[in-house]
Amino acid sequence: MELSDRQETIIEIVKENGPITGEKISSQLNLSRATIRPDLAILTMAGFLDARPRVGYFYTGKTGSELLTEKVKQYKVKDFQSVPVVVKENISVYDAISSMFLGDVGTLFVVDDNGSLTGVLSRKDLLRASLGNQDLNAVPIHIIMTRMPNITVCEPNELLIESAKKLIDKQIDGLPVVKENNYGLQVVGRITKTTITRAFVDLILDE
Ligand code: ADP
Repeated sequence: MELSDRQETIIEIVKENGPITGEKISSQLNLSRATIRPDLAILTMAGFLDARPRVGYFYTGKTGSELLTEKVKQYKVKDFQSVPVVVKENISVYDAISSMFLGDVGTLFVVDDNGSLTGVLSRKDLLRASLGNQDLNAVPIHIIMTRMPNITVCEPNELLIESAKKLIDKQIDGLPVVKENNYGLQVVGRITKTTITRAFVDLILDE
């Protein structure tokens, strides 16, 4: 976050004199207590300062990047995941392409009759299957999809940064968010490169 000159000065004052009361900070700045109250609230909320009742403000010693790291570590998959588009494994390549357009997604998750994850279909998987002259209505997706157990997944309670790392390491666009039950892995959400971009924007703009 971008700090104002006054907020930077307040941090310096607290660094040198803390613990120090709000009253004393304001008198050092020749400002009223009310004027600096919002600054103190921001600096405390952002983690630069800590406030103890009847003692005053003190400097936490955390740098901007440490505070950013702390915030990133609060970002969980379940708070950012979007709705998955799921198809059955016996549908045709033609129908999968239609589902991809209708669902406005770049990755489809394939499930069996129990709703358990069996495969993943990317845009390029479907493009590859469309090269050549075969009848797309006659080709079932289960022969072209990437299948279990070679699917990279994530879980609702996982850190979003862990999922971002999986997307980079595996060079893929999306991950199914899964929960295990007696049948296998149930697809409950979707994490994509767009999700990570959204979280990044949130991180910087969310003051
Ligand atoms: P595209 O192929 O459209 O660029 P991806 O990079 O996501 O999209 O997919 C590359 C390959 O990886 C495809 O063959 C796809 O089936 C496979 N794939 C996509 N997502 C996953 C995943 N979560 N786990 C394993 N394989 C995946």
